[in-house]
Amino acid sequence: MTLLNPGPVTLSPRVRKALQGPDLCHREPEFAQLTLEILESLEEIYSTNSSHQAVLLASSGTGAVEAMLGSLAPGDGLTVVAANGVYGERMASMLDAMRKPYRLVSAPWNEPVDIEAVGRCLQSHPEATHLATVHHETTTGRLNDLQNLGKLCSKHNCRILLDAVSSFGAEEIDFKVLPLEAVAGTANKCLHGIPGAAFVLLERESMTGKESQACSLYLDLFRYREQRKTGYSPFTQPVQSLYALREALEELQEEGGWKARRCLYQQRSQQLRDELENLGVQTLLDPKEYASMLTSFKLPNGRSYEQLHADLKEEGFIIYAGQGDLKKTIFRLATMGHIPPPEMERLCAALRDHACPTAPSTE
Ligand SMILES: *Cc1c(COP(=O)(O)O)cnc(C)c1O
Repeated sequence: MTLLNPGPVTLSPRVRKALQGPDLCHREPEFAQLTLEILESLEEIYSTNSSHQAVLLASSGTGAVEAMLGSLAPGDGLTVVAANGVYGERMASMLDAMRKPYRLVSAPWNEPVDIEAVGRCLQSHPEATHLATVHHETTTGRLNDLQNLGKLCSKHNCRILLDAVSSFGAEEIDFKVLPLEAVAGTANKCLHGIPGAAFVLLERESMTGKESQACSLYLDLFRYREQRKTGYSPFTQPVQSLYALREALEELQEEGGWKARRCLYQQRSQQLRDELENLGVQTLLDPKEYASMLTSFKLPNGRSYEQLHADLKEEGFIIYAGQGDLKKTIFRLATMGHIPPPEMERLCAALRDHACPTAPSTE
């Protein structure tokens, strides 16, 4: 099967092989070594070694986002959440569950983050200390503009808590310019590892000398940061997932890092958009608004998602449905993971056979 869902991704042969590494106790020095190598590689992707430290968690991406908000969003001040999709709105739901104060500035899912409304919100809430937002909003495939949000935050003395779960490793994240206190990512999207490990890149000065405000014991980032110097973790880590991640990070580096990966994703996405455009299938957003690794397409006339999914699955491809109100109207194709050129060709052929709006009904 080739996975075109936005993670987990199809593994490369060498990452799959790495899963067969030796059994390992997470209290042995070999494990500490494995962890330290991964932390270092994660910090090297955007050359953040001097400004931000990686903290590894045994969770999916959501766990990393929740740990970030639970540990850093203030219990007294205010967090402004700038959302334009499922994942931004989920950050607000997390703060809700944690009973932390927030204001949600929500834009329609097919539109950019409402920067003016965010500006007004920050203006009228001087107690706001943080802005939580999503980099690549996987709901639609839009790459949100961090530059202008960053300027706004700097002006209002706010720190950004960024969900970069579906962009980390393949899009630009300007750690030098953006006021990023923390960035959450995962092993199994653009980094090409397997599910089970997620991480937060945490600003070195963050909370130093202060009492942890974390509202969870297991997801307290500072607890992990305390132990990270040694390579150990307070709790059991997903050893095999970390074997895979170490290999995947090495592969990323050999291939030329995030820029090369963005380029590869862009080529694949362009190939799919061209193919589908020829078939008369339209993109949901203006093509220039997409991140490199995902495109949302309007379902062709007369094709239900369920039927399209079933037909392509039969050919060995897993596509991805829309969420919420977009469930009935779009499908999504992600181009992350190991998809060699012949497999891309085969996918294009399968799309020609099954996604054409004018194709005769198969009934
Ligand atoms: C995938 C994703 C997540 C986390 O999803 P998990 O299923 O927990 O890995 C969070 N935010 C964004 C933007 C995502 O794409």
